[in-house]
Amino acid sequence: MWFFKSPEIVFGEEALGYLERLEGRRAHIVTDKVIVGLGHAARVREVLESAGLEVSIFDAVEPDPSLETVRAGAQAMLDFEPDWIVGLGGGSAMDAAKAMWILYERPDMDPEGINPIEILHLRRKARMIAIPTTSGTGSEATWAVVLTNLAERRKLGLGSREVLPDIAIVDPSFVMAMPPRLTADTGMDALTHAFEGYTCVYRNSFSDGPCLVAAKLVFEYLPRAYRNGSDEEARARMHYAASIAGIGFGNSMASLAHGLGHSLGGVFHVPHGRAVSLFLPYVIEFCARGEPGSTSYSGMARFLGLPSSSEVEAATALAAAVRALQKELEQPLSLSQCGISAAELEKEMSLLVSNTGNDSSTVTSTRIPDDAETRRLYEHAFEGKPVDF
Ligand SMILES: [Zn+2]
Repeated sequence: MWFFKSPEIVFGEEALGYLERLEGRRAHIVTDKVIVGLGHAARVREVLESAGLEVSIFDAVEPDPSLETVRAGAQAMLDFEPDWIVGLGGGSAMDAAKAMWILYERPDMDPEGINPIEILHLRRKARMIAIPTTSGTGSEATWAVVLTNLAERRKLGLGSREVLPDIAIVDPSFVMAMPPRLTADTGMDALTHAFEGYTCVYRNSFSDGPCLVAAKLVFEYLPRAYRNGSDEEARARMHYAASIAGIGFGNSMASLAHGLGHSLGGVFHVPHGRAVSLFLPYVIEFCARGEPGSTSYSGMARFLGLPSSSEVEAATALAAAVRALQKELEQPLSLSQCGISAAELEKEMSLLVSNTGNDSSTVTSTRIPDDAETRRLYEHAFEGKPVDF
């Protein structure tokens, strides 16, 4: 038994206006100070107030939200008693909103204990709207929740199907002001979701289509959105690509590039999309050398018009295409280009290796590395050396 879940997705110009029809009493917006500064929170507040709702704003979400922030935000919800939760921002704000929502409905829960098996009985108090302001995480369309345990310096890949937002507002006007580096980092996260959703062990016929379409959109439109942020067509297509990739991988899983990238981000604070996409070509090369018949690279390569007569040929072409895109976007292709020194990497290696092994995204890889292989993956990624083992 498996599931296909998607929020109601409202996309395109003026999508935000859909919320003028919202019925409810109180809406609680969870966001960050940058989003408030850009005027996005005020826009959302205005629409919600025009629908007759009382609005409050929690703007203290930091990048890579911590368990402490989630507890503070949940307390604000318990005080305000909203019947709508609005996650407004990038993945951090939306994931924090999801976790706060769980604690609001279930104050007895430990946020670290959020898992896909436990039935939470959400929606007794509130429902959720997600409004992404980056084009990457797809959190508006998934039930994933990524938090950070600051004390242990590791990311927590949590989730519950119940925490999938009810409504996603995919309105390109929220991403027009994204700077180029954020455009590239988040767009490459969407590409990594598309690849991993299509190639992990939980891939299925419902998730394959969205993953393929999302990958194609990213290859076509991300360079344009990066070069010229006011290219409205490229911005809109990338914004859709991120949500479509979210629907894709949200209904299968992410995989090893996320396991390695979460671990790297928890220790070195490399932005999520930059970290996971950096590992993507290395992971493709690694998995292509796994059990014959375990991978599905030729389907992806064929759809993208790349050589695909065998899995090895397809994997080689896909890894090259990802690296070419990274170069075009002036992204780092190695950990050393990320500004990490050999000494720093070696000092943190045992933590990186053990956190990768414990990450929920690692276990869905078609080839799961043992500790020695994980170390070698980091070493190859450090030097920018293609994986040949
Ligand atoms: Zn991601």
